[in-house]
Amino acid sequence: MTDALLTAGQVITGPNGARITDGAVLVRGDRIAAVGPREEIERLAPEGLPTTAVPHGTLLPGLIDAHVHLIFDGGATPLETAQQTADEELLEGMAERAQQLLHSGVTTVRDLGDRNGLAIRLRDAIAGGAVPGPRVLSAATPLTSPGGHLHVFGGEVAGEDAIRTMIRRNADLGAEVIKVMATGGGMTKGGPAIWQNQFTEHELSVAVDEAACHGLPVAVHAHGTDGIAAAVRAGVATIEHCTWMTEGGDFDLREDVAMQIKSQGISVCTATSPNWRGFAERVGQERAEYLFSSMRWMADLGVPLIAGTDAGVTRADFDKLVNSLEFYEYLGLSNAKILDMATTDAAQGLGITGTGQIAEGQRADIIAVEGDPLVDLRALRDIRLVIAGGKRAR
Ligand SMILES: [Zn+2]
Repeated sequence: MTDALLTAGQVITGPNGARITDGAVLVRGDRIAAVGPREEIERLAPEGLPTTAVPHGTLLPGLIDAHVHLIFDGGATPLETAQQTADEELLEGMAERAQQLLHSGVTTVRDLGDRNGLAIRLRDAIAGGAVPGPRVLSAATPLTSPGGHLHVFGGEVAGEDAIRTMIRRNADLGAEVIKVMATGGGMTKGGPAIWQNQFTEHELSVAVDEAACHGLPVAVHAHGTDGIAAAVRAGVATIEHCTWMTEGGDFDLREDVAMQIKSQGISVCTATSPNWRGFAERVGQERAEYLFSSMRWMADLGVPLIAGTDAGVTRADFDKLVNSLEFYEYLGLSNAKILDMATTDAAQGLGITGTGQIAEGQRADIIAVEGDPLVDLRALRDIRLVIAGGKRAR
């Protein structure tokens, strides 16, 4: 970690597009020591301090990707590949993918499921300085029903005792979040259909209760409307995908449930693939439009949305969060809102403090881009600097 002075045409401190024109940030160790108008901050900086200037660019908080699977390689058959690869080799690939995230401006990432605590091992290696990478929050092994979604990772549970035991095991490993597959998933052959419940509402409540005993939030994977409703009543922290599907793959958008999500402060991560533009080719224009409009419906109702990519699944690369953010631009959200979804709102949704804004005392998670992402999100592709926890990564 080195102390540094960063200056830029503007500093987006967040949230709501709050910014300082001709601003600067002083970094000391792993923290932000000061932020403000450039001339003021320059006076605080010791002489000879390394300085990075982006006069036509923007400093903003490091980005948060709330939904990835580092264990998957984003190839044609990520699950099969992971199954055929030994842990140590997987760990090497995971370290490379973590570095891709970091280089693309992601300084915090939530990993929502793998096996044998691999993402936790990677997290510790990153935190210890052995390998570069973003801050990793890991769910470890996702809980699923027998034969259910991603059961090959070893998280099959049936009944209350098994649910509690698996959560305790994840907590003991060092997980920061508990992932529960509330409904089926498209990647898993056999098992419940994507819209079908894998757990009862009571079982989801047990999971929330046991996770809370360890101070952990629960993130549920839920495509089905029934599963979404049950998860909301059980009091989960985040809902992943949230595609409101019902029997046969039809859609059932329930406004009462959406309003409960909002009133309970549950965050929804749609985990929209960076490759969302290709979705219509795969499922048909009409179905894609309907799915997209359901996301717009949630946004219009004020459901708290946070950014995520599902990076690692087929066609979801680790260095393309900005492509997923463009989906929300397509839905009509403002750039300021979209940046919040990947910074302040994401931090809040994930229950982490000390990151997501540029403010004194926050972790020094800062990126610099050329141009102004409040005007054009594509500026996020032109990254000039990445600092994660005070360490310069790019
Ligand atoms: Zn996922």
